[in-house]
Amino acid sequence: MAEGKVYLVGAGPGDPELLTVKGLRCVRQADVILYDGLANPDLLEEAPEGCEVIDVGKHIDGHRRDRDRQQAEIDATMLEKARAGLNVVRLKGGDPFVFGRGGEEAEALQSAGVPFEVVPGITSAIAAPAYAGIPVTHRTLSPYVTFVTGHRASLEGAQDVDWEGLARLGGTLVVLMGVRNRAEVAARLMVGGYASDTPVAVVQRGTLPSQKTVRTTLEGLAEVDVTNPAAIVVGQVAGLDFSWFESRPLFGVRVAVTRMRKQAGELVGLLQALGAEVLEAPTVRIEGPADWGPVDRAIGGIEAYDWVVFSSANGVERFFGRMLDLEGDLRALKGVRIAAVGPATAEKVAAYYLGVDLCPSHHVAEGLVEAFEQEGGVAGKRILILRPERAREVLAGALREMGGEVQEVVVYRTVRPGAFPAGVVSRLGRGELDLVTFTSASTARHFADLLGFHRLERVRARVLAASIGPSTSQTARDLGFRVVAEPPEGDISVPGMVRAILAYYQGQTRV
Ligand code: SAH
Repeated sequence: MAEGKVYLVGAGPGDPELLTVKGLRCVRQADVILYDGLANPDLLEEAPEGCEVIDVGKHIDGHRRDRDRQQAEIDATMLEKARAGLNVVRLKGGDPFVFGRGGEEAEALQSAGVPFEVVPGITSAIAAPAYAGIPVTHRTLSPYVTFVTGHRASLEGAQDVDWEGLARLGGTLVVLMGVRNRAEVAARLMVGGYASDTPVAVVQRGTLPSQKTVRTTLEGLAEVDVTNPAAIVVGQVAGLDFSWFESRPLFGVRVAVTRMRKQAGELVGLLQALGAEVLEAPTVRIEGPADWGPVDRAIGGIEAYDWVVFSSANGVERFFGRMLDLEGDLRALKGVRIAAVGPATAEKVAAYYLGVDLCPSHHVAEGLVEAFEQEGGVAGKRILILRPERAREVLAGALREMGGEVQEVVVYRTVRPGAFPAGVVSRLGRGELDLVTFTSASTARHFADLLGFHRLERVRARVLAASIGPSTSQTARDLGFRVVAEPPEGDISVPGMVRAILAYYQGQTRV
């Protein structure tokens, strides 16, 4: 059997976008991934189907003797999987060779004769300060930077760090694993000659949406409340504050997106760009119609229609998907004219290299009726309308009144998924949500249903709501939500809703 290989991959400091291109390729090609607490679990979503994912670690600051045993197990697993011919990715927080025992893992691989590669990562030692607006070197303030561990072993015993000597060296110090022993570290640096008012910044959960920066001095370091993981920056540069990450307008706001995953991208992207932490809690899923019979018959006799009308982008995808499944041929549409209810639907049709003959600028059913009128009416024409299961009846009725011979066929239906993903439920349970976004009345209803009565009680008491328009807002209010953001009439759209959310939070005094 071909021998496998181990890739020691730096996962970056937390923000999943800070993984390197090479690291991402390794993850996407992995048969096995061994990860621990400091590697962002979101990255695991990039793993291929069937990839075995093993959580090999609790916290890096865990008990030392346990850590030794745990490390031996990690090494053994890596060797075993590689010898079984598998592609192994050992995903490590930050850079694999900056603390965190990457060197020991390479040593184990080398002495076992197992081939390996190292993919460097962005270490938290530079990334956490950067996201706090602190350059670790500066032409006039600090010509060098030292990365040092504040772990117990560096304060006593064989690997003793000469803290007093480091203080004499000056420059910037970035202390990792220093939270627990910060009082002792600060005291020894002051003994070594660092002034007690030397600026210090403690960057906790750097690069993550929950990042928090505490600014103090060496003297004050012992007193500040800090949680792991944190990078402690000591030196004149720690007094600089080119804040950008934490000062984005929606930073610190935790927002749930309830759209179906496939359609959530735009909203998620806009919210994240403003600094919000997004929780995807899809409340809608698309399924084929209960009965494909009518669709199949329409496809089989498609040449007989004068018009095919698509009422949504989803409908376009479902219809052509079915046509391909039936080994149909797009040329059957040769003489059939195509209408789309709005620009997004028309774009989807164009993706199949088909022209759209009619698409109103005003994108609702009424707009399409008007467009047909301007086109000279539909009297005597055979029209196929492809639509979701539950839809407003406006279009078919109006076209029939105009003398058209209309047939409506259901190409998809939207259903409520059975449950939220596990991660969503536990976060809601811990109260980690500030705002929920509703992009349709059904997202609001399904959200409430999926929560169940008791959790709904708690969530709506504390969580605010944003809605895409008046009827969605009404549904949300009926369900007991406090709607604080809704776009004005002329701006009813996803970006419009985001603008309304922004306006709401900008009107609030942020702490
Ligand atoms: N190889 C890692 C460091 C591992 S040691 C790297 O290059 O980043 C673990 C220490 O890294 C933690 O105790 C903490 O000091 C630091 N650390 C890891 N992730 C961090 C983050 N997101 N923000 C601040 N510090 C972090």
